[in-house]
Amino acid sequence: VEIIEPQVIIETPLDSNKIYTNLEKYGRTAYKSEDKITRGSAEKFLKSIINSGHESVIEHESITVRFICDRGVTHELVRHRLVAYTQESTRYVNYLRRGIQFIKPCFWDSNEDEYKIWYAAMADAEDRYNQLIKWGASPQEARSVLPNSLKNEIVTTANIREWRHILKLRSSPAAHPQMRQIMCQLLGMLKKKLPVLFDDIAMDT
Ligand SMILES: Cc1cc2nc3c(=O)[nH]c(=O)nc-3n(C[C@H](O)[C@H](O)[C@H](O)COP(=O)(O)OP(=O)(O)OC[C@H]3O[C@@H](n4cnc5c(N)ncnc54)[C@H](O)[C@@H]3O)c2cc1C
Repeated sequence: VEIIEPQVIIETPLDSNKIYTNLEKYGRTAYKSEDKITRGSAEKFLKSIINSGHESVIEHESITVRFICDRGVTHELVRHRLVAYTQESTRYVNYLRRGIQFIKPCFWDSNEDEYKIWYAAMADAEDRYNQLIKWGASPQEARSVLPNSLKNEIVTTANIREWRHILKLRSSPAAHPQMRQIMCQLLGMLKKKLPVLFDDIAMDT
């Protein structure tokens, strides 16, 4: 049984200056105020766009993120509709050959009884999956015994408006702890890389 931590990888190279100036150029089309573009004007313009709720402007730039998390979390993530996804398929991937990985639940320490019970269930699921494949089942049949904790990779592309929406919902204390774990990580990364576009989103504790 291989237990791993979740991971968040931003696939899009994020050049904040380029993204801010592009968005300013597109947004100022609405007001024909391109003559007001100066060094540093983009940040101010974008802040006022976001404050006024004119968020369609920030739909012009997209970000692709790869999440390595569990199947329970990807199942929730794919409910967001204004997004393109490519997800590791349990129909096609044969885990007998490559080994099964499970994502460590963030709410149990490895010395707790709950963790030990969970770990035994993962070991059992892996054994049963391998048995089924050895008996001739296809990966898409054998996957029936795989749990929510199965490691899954999902590439997620959304525009910046949709990311703001997803991050607000999914980094909140109301979200599932494992969803929050990856979304708070992503929000922290985006606050550093694109503060003008993500700084106002609270990282509630
Ligand atoms: C804490 C939490 C608990 C949840 N619990 C459950 C649950 O128990 N059961 C369950 O089934 N789901 C649950 N969900 C999922 C939830 O119902 C949504 O499916 C999910 O959050 C996707 O968000 P969304 O619909 O706001 O937006 P997205 O699909 O991300 O779309 C973004 C926005 O675009 C607009 N939009 C998109 N599509 C349409 C449309 N067809 N018509 C009009 N406007 C549209 C809306 O303004 C929407 O907010 C939960 C979500 C959260 C965050």
